[in-house]
Amino acid sequence: MDLSEHKKVKIITGEGAVRKNSALFCSAGKRALVVSGKNSADKCGAMADVACALDEAGVSYVRFACIPENPPAPMCHEGGEMARREGCDFVIAIGGGSAIDAGKAIAGYAANPDCSVDDIFDDNKRVNDCLPIIAIPTTAGTGSEACRYSVLTIDGGRKKKTFKHSSAYAKYAFVCPEYTRTMPELYTVSTALDALSHSIESYLSPKSTPESEEAALYAAGEIWDVIFRGADTENGEYTMKARERLSYAACAAGIAIDYTGTGFPHPLGYSITLTRKIPHGNACAVFEGAYLTYNMLKSEGREKIMKLAAHLGTTPLEMIEKIPEKSGVREKIGVIPEIEREELIDRVAGAGNYTNSPYIISRGEMSDIYARIFG
Ligand code: NAP
Ligand code: FE
Repeated sequence: MDLSEHKKVKIITGEGAVRKNSALFCSAGKRALVVSGKNSADKCGAMADVACALDEAGVSYVRFACIPENPPAPMCHEGGEMARREGCDFVIAIGGGSAIDAGKAIAGYAANPDCSVDDIFDDNKRVNDCLPIIAIPTTAGTGSEACRYSVLTIDGGRKKKTFKHSSAYAKYAFVCPEYTRTMPELYTVSTALDALSHSIESYLSPKSTPESEEAALYAAGEIWDVIFRGADTENGEYTMKARERLSYAACAAGIAIDYTGTGFPHPLGYSITLTRKIPHGNACAVFEGAYLTYNMLKSEGREKIMKLAAHLGTTPLEMIEKIPEKSGVREKIGVIPEIEREELIDRVAGAGNYTNSPYIISRGEMSDIYARIFG
């Protein structure tokens, strides 16, 4: 699939792309706020490349290098204040989905001085477009570089809420698989499972289009091949070829969900990420078996799942078993008492994702899913 054809974001791929394209940085602005987590942007080499490109382009920058996993909205609000105080006119986000989502929110807060933390989600209160954004993923998972969503943690860590807007698309996304080389096995698998979940949930969505389906099928095929068949791995290690396939697949899955949104594994996954610190991809993948099983009960769902499984060269049953198993979440968490399971479901009540698949899940069925996995 040709990622450069994506209409919403100019996607630039390949080794050395950041250094080779320094001119694009000065076309985004004169002074950048570089948003990242604490370590990975430096560790993977992306920050050094960005510093070099900015230097060559004559663009100054300051750093906001403190974004944790599951970025809290209040911290992004502070980042917006810093961008204004420092006179930054664009944002460069380097990292996984957490840093890129935070970069989008910071770009929104920076352009809207009167926005309170909660106002970012309200189109009537957030009146100005986000500052321009350049996204540089260092994980191969969320596809945030290709979509307009920014998933933020609110209510003191109790909930997640998505800010989405057409001005939150990155102006440029540099997808350079070499930056994912430093990712440990745990995160390589977890982020790949996130991208696989995106492709499955997008493919089954009633909002899917021929374009989103093409992206979803491509992404799922690549990820299945590398993660479940071990293609392009050597002695259990991911080769650069494998990392390239996963990075481009994750980006394509981001394009797919930009059309459709995600399904119920996502909100259900948020609850165990926030309470049990399970990485996002694993947390979604543990519910993917239930998602496929319920959707097999509807003819539209069954037909699509059969097509998807055939494309992967597997069966629906194998997907239903292997995806949650690969997440390792059940073993890690063990039993959750019923009262707590119900509280976890209440936390993520009302999400639009529940109606975004052929089978619409009920509250009682959510309890059944939790009981089967964690009972
Ligand atoms: P992440 O939370 O961004 O990062 C996870 C960990 O991996 C961090 O400790 C990070 O370190 C580290 N890391 C990142 N790149 C690395 C590298 N190249 N080498 C070594 N370590 C590296 O993980 P993610 O799975 O990419 O993002 C998850 C977030 O994205 C969640 O908040 C989720 O809700 C959101 N999400 C957004 C979308 C969307 O459409 N926008 C879709 C799905 C998920 P540092 O802290 O040092 O950077
Ligand atoms: Fe996700």
